[in-house]
Amino acid sequence: MNYPKFEVTILGCGSATPGAGRHPSAQALHHFQDVFLIDCGEGTQDRLKEFDVKWNRINQIFISHLHGDHIFGLPGLLSTFHLNRRERKIQIFSPTGLRGPLEFLLQTGGESLSFEIEWVELNHEGSKKVWESDRLEVEAIPLDHRISTYGYIFKEKEHPRSILVEELSRFPKLNHLQLRSLKLGLDVHLESGEIIPNAVVTEKKLEARSYAYWSDTRYHSEYSTILSGMTALYHEATFLDNLKDKAQSTYHSTAKEAAELAKLSHVKTLLIGHFSSRYASIMDHQKEAQQIFPQAFAVEEGKTYVVL
Ligand SMILES: [Zn+2]
Repeated sequence: MNYPKFEVTILGCGSATPGAGRHPSAQALHHFQDVFLIDCGEGTQDRLKEFDVKWNRINQIFISHLHGDHIFGLPGLLSTFHLNRRERKIQIFSPTGLRGPLEFLLQTGGESLSFEIEWVELNHEGSKKVWESDRLEVEAIPLDHRISTYGYIFKEKEHPRSILVEELSRFPKLNHLQLRSLKLGLDVHLESGEIIPNAVVTEKKLEARSYAYWSDTRYHSEYSTILSGMTALYHEATFLDNLKDKAQSTYHSTAKEAAELAKLSHVKTLLIGHFSSRYASIMDHQKEAQQIFPQAFAVEEGKTYVVL
């Protein structure tokens, strides 16, 4: 079955300090023609270029929280957009507190940006839909970290239904608008009073997909309520299980905990990342997670994972 594009390119899967060849958090989520940037750790623009991400398609940036390893790439990236004479507005979704320092930094060069930034500031409130298009909606969910932090859920709206041509041929010829109604899942009322039942002449071919970004956070089994049935979950796994106490005290998670949550939530795929620089290899993280949840993958930078 031919699904439209929905995939994530990992730009950075390290945690706060540099090391082990990994970089701070950033991801490019591709959906149809759109590219959403999620977090923007130091050097994100270099890796967008290196991995050939079409960055002129980025119109929304979703920031989880204001720790440096999730935001220090923003001034550089926005400056480059300015130098490229970008004109299209960009929306930045972020916990309150980023706007002032970022605007200050960007103004130190003495020029105003060639494009507008629209700020959507999240202010310790609960879960909330923050953005939507015809095809996708994005929800911000508060996470349990040392400072105000949000996870983001990217959820496709229902795909158009497919017309069953043979079934439809039993009815009078329909116009463009009536066909569109059928694809949207509606019955069609003919002038004659006859009703064409949607369920008879169409079928659902593609399931709506979803992607959840869950970094940084402590483990909570209660998250499974909101993550239930997600197609793909990216969950931080800063530590291995033998450092579970450290994960607790620093408000992070282990690979095992990420896998337990994926299992409880019945997601299809688990991606883990945000690895501490103390680990030269991340294969132990993958092993630990796969013992509980076989469809778990320790992500690698430069790789693209399909949401399916
Ligand atoms: Zn953090």
